[in-house]
Amino acid sequence: MNQVILPGATLGVLGSGQLGRMFAVAARRLGYRVHVLSPDDDTPAGQIADVEINASYDDLDAVARFAQGVSVVTFEFENVPAATTDAAERFAPVRPRGAVLHATQNRLREKRFLQSIGVPTTPFAAVRSDADLARAVAELGLPAVLKTADWGYDGKGQRMLQPGDDAAAAWRELATPEAILEAFVDYECELSVVGARGIAGDIALYGPIHNEHRHHILDVSHTPAALPEKVAGAALDIGRAILTHLEVVGVLCVEMFLTRDGQLLVNELAPRPHNSGHLTIDAHVTCQFEQQVRAVCGLPLGSARQIQPAAMVNLLGDLWQHGEPAWARACGFPEVKLHLYGKQQARPGRKMGHLTALAATTQEAVELALAARKSLEGNVESMSNA
Ligand code: AMP
Repeated sequence: MNQVILPGATLGVLGSGQLGRMFAVAARRLGYRVHVLSPDDDTPAGQIADVEINASYDDLDAVARFAQGVSVVTFEFENVPAATTDAAERFAPVRPRGAVLHATQNRLREKRFLQSIGVPTTPFAAVRSDADLARAVAELGLPAVLKTADWGYDGKGQRMLQPGDDAAAAWRELATPEAILEAFVDYECELSVVGARGIAGDIALYGPIHNEHRHHILDVSHTPAALPEKVAGAALDIGRAILTHLEVVGVLCVEMFLTRDGQLLVNELAPRPHNSGHLTIDAHVTCQFEQQVRAVCGLPLGSARQIQPAAMVNLLGDLWQHGEPAWARACGFPEVKLHLYGKQQARPGRKMGHLTALAATTQEAVELALAARKSLEGNVESMSNA
């Protein structure tokens, strides 16, 4: 029997970045206490949590003590070691369960799982040697993208291979025992479907979100995405199928490419709230973080209905290169919401915050969000806008 974990209880989060922070905000708003465990201190999530435990994920005694102090454990990144979730599971349920992490921690495993349930993915091949790579290039052709099978995110551990490139050199540079070669998809656009699944198997899906990346990092998201009804429906069906087959209790994001001939190909999964879903905080009845709280606590899910068209732009550390951004100017846009993650060090490419703009149409929301971000740059004309 799954007992409902009611407000007043303490929720545990493994990981302490911005996703943990926004989870903690949602949990606190619902009246829960939050403990976070990560190897860092003064973290985005720790600043909001009741208790911040500073320990390595491999310190299984610390993980066990942490789990003893909470009613449920969840996580904000998928690369939590299996030994860590196993140690926590002895004292508190881990949601989503460790098997979901296992399926999504390795790109090959993830794609094979998707194939096994009939979900189309980017064409791919496993690479463990020079010979594998040569075979994979012959099979998939170039251009293609060579990615480490484990521990990849935001384009880290990836090499684009163009015709004429030295593929073997790229393979050596990745210095990994296992990689995946993916055909390069000349897509129409990138989409994500974020959804939540509760303990009883109930599912709430947000409408497909349109995403634009810059240097492999998410730059602009907007929703509703202008899509033929059939495509939007197919994207939601894919999200529902994955949440169901993995028996996720929590939130999951499916990132996909829409090809020029109208096909959806899944690129990757994230078994947690996702950057593209941040706009649900301001634009939807129930945000993705509150859904994570409700799901892992065994509460009914909230409505995923969108209240207004919205766009989100990320604020990366690059914005700090000429000093502190002009926050008051962004706040001068009354329909734009500023979210900052409390990170002390602004490094290029580091996600420091985001802006969400609300408007009558998605197009206007995108323009507003970009204008608000531009205003942060102050009078420095040399800085480029996305
Ligand atoms: P990933 O780390 O797999 O999410 O990749 C980051 C971004 O790189 C994606 O969102 C795409 O913009 C781009 N990308 C990754 N894989 C491919 C691919 N096979 N074909 C085209 N673009 C890709």
